[in-house]
Amino acid sequence: MRRAILMLSILLLASVPSTSAQQPGIIQEHWYHTWATLTVDLDAWAADHPDIVKKTSAGETELGRDQWIIQISDWSNETKADGSEKDVVYIDGGHHGNEHLGTELAFLTAQYYIEGWASGDEEAIRVLQNTELHIMVLLNADGNDMDTRWNINQVDLNRNYDHHWNEQDETQPGSGPFSEAETANNAAYMNSVVPNADLYVTMHTGVWIMLHPWGYIPDQPIDWELFHGIRDEVNANISDIPIRNANQGLYPNSGTSRDYGYGVMGFPTFTFETDDEQFLLGSVESLSSRLGEELEVMRYLIDNVWYWRARLVVDEIRIDDDEVSFDITNHGRATTRNATLQYMKGDTILWQSDNFTVNASNHTSVTSSGWSDSGGDWRLSYQKRIIDAAMWVNESVPTEDTTIVTQSGLFGDAVYVLQMSGITILAVLAAWWWSREDEPFSMIKPILEAELMD
Ligand SMILES: [Zn+2]
Repeated sequence: MRRAILMLSILLLASVPSTSAQQPGIIQEHWYHTWATLTVDLDAWAADHPDIVKKTSAGETELGRDQWIIQISDWSNETKADGSEKDVVYIDGGHHGNEHLGTELAFLTAQYYIEGWASGDEEAIRVLQNTELHIMVLLNADGNDMDTRWNINQVDLNRNYDHHWNEQDETQPGSGPFSEAETANNAAYMNSVVPNADLYVTMHTGVWIMLHPWGYIPDQPIDWELFHGIRDEVNANISDIPIRNANQGLYPNSGTSRDYGYGVMGFPTFTFETDDEQFLLGSVESLSSRLGEELEVMRYLIDNVWYWRARLVVDEIRIDDDEVSFDITNHGRATTRNATLQYMKGDTILWQSDNFTVNASNHTSVTSSGWSDSGGDWRLSYQKRIIDAAMWVNESVPTEDTTIVTQSGLFGDAVYVLQMSGITILAVLAAWWWSREDEPFSMIKPILEAELMD
């Protein structure tokens, strides 16, 4: 009641935000966005920070409102400083039009990096130099304007995705998968612009919990090590927010964007349920303090996105007649299966190893035969995560960073170390040590069989 009275006072005191002005100061902090005020705010960001903010649209809602996306990165460079691809993060808010705090967390996440970059914040600069953030702050603009969960066709958009659609006998899932413009546009953006994302967070309200796949079945996802590792890190260092699979943590649900993002796109996905409040149009407590803890979780997920996949590095290759043995380290937090080491000439595979598995944050050694080639290049071919939908990567093995040892039968057992002077060995060791120092996970925990059960 006290909150309601305070709320009313604020509503009376604050002037109604005009659609031609950015939401400033006190209104920004207490009054939830409409599509109109959001449009003005995003335009201002794009105009004020063209070096890091691009505004685009994923398409129009059923009533013709643009589903704006802001793309935030250091656009002066297409790649990271070392020439490798930037990591990609996808975020959306506002599937349910009355879940304003979820929408505001998407907005605050964008704001954190934009304002941080502008003020010279070290973390924001590091993230934007290495990461592309694609954020659709408000997916269901029509429902938001009417302060309702549904879209204009009375469809629950977060049951309308083409992944085991309506298997749980959902309330108002639409006439078929992707029957609604809002969800079809969102999926099209995922497929066409961010298919290589290594994190997808979709923001809601209703309870305070983070949900990972699956919703449509009670099973843990096959990449459970990745999800449970994140859960343990967040709970140990940042927040007590419960992190569970959706089916067990909340209730069975099917056709959600979270299950679609993981099951069809292969992304690590979370539904971020930010708060138990719905329906009010504003917040007495300032949004940045009310959602401060949730924003910290988002910063952790984004700053560490490099780890949310398998990251294989070849440490050493030994060649002995027709046999190739090699040592592989997985620097990522996801397991990969069916990986191969290949020897390539152009696009032709001259030789490839037997399939192998490398567990999350682990090492393996593999020996395969059939070697008889020369004059090619090494590459690794593997999936980012175990889920079938996970993207395959073909990464060349930088020979200047890899010890290649050849044992030749013709010349006795002499060992030739190729491609590796003493100076490069020192450089590689230094780089390895440096990367260890940078690694935020101080301890790699053994995986307990019991974890499979919860
Ligand atoms: Zn929701």
